[in-house]
Amino acid sequence: MIKYRLECSSGHEFESWFRASADFDSQLLAGEIACPLCGSIDIAKQPMAPSIVTKAAVASRFTGPAPKQSGAMQTGDAKAALEALRAIKKTVFENSEDVGSRFADEARKMHFGEIEERHIRGSSTLEEARELVNDGVPFGILPALPEDLN
Ligand SMILES: [Zn+2]
Repeated sequence: MIKYRLECSSGHEFESWFRASADFDSQLLAGEIACPLCGSIDIAKQPMAPSIVTKAAVASRFTGPAPKQSGAMQTGDAKAALEALRAIKKTVFENSEDVGSRFADEARKMHFGEIEERHIRGSSTLEEARELVNDGVPFGILPALPEDLN
């Protein structure tokens, strides 16, 4: 899941969750994202602090118990959100197998029952992520943390 801060053409700000960044793009193009205040579908994505846009997103297919999220996630408290993300990443990393760049392949094979289901993580290009979305393969994108970019 990925959270975006959005703003409509009238300057109303709101936040929305998406399964993947590709979902945001396709829903925006389809006019499915509307401002909750005025109904405008002229929506722009606000830059987030910290930045969660990465070229090769770390993707994961993880269905285990997620760490408790603090209520601060909803208030947009960047520091608390960062802590929550760290906790989620830690859980994923401790409970999944790193398949690296084979992530898209492995996730697809699992989805279509060609190999046994397990928790995996790895990296995928935006193009691969889009294809997974198109194929209906469930996966999540873990935003990069500031320390990952060093
Ligand atoms: Zn609005």
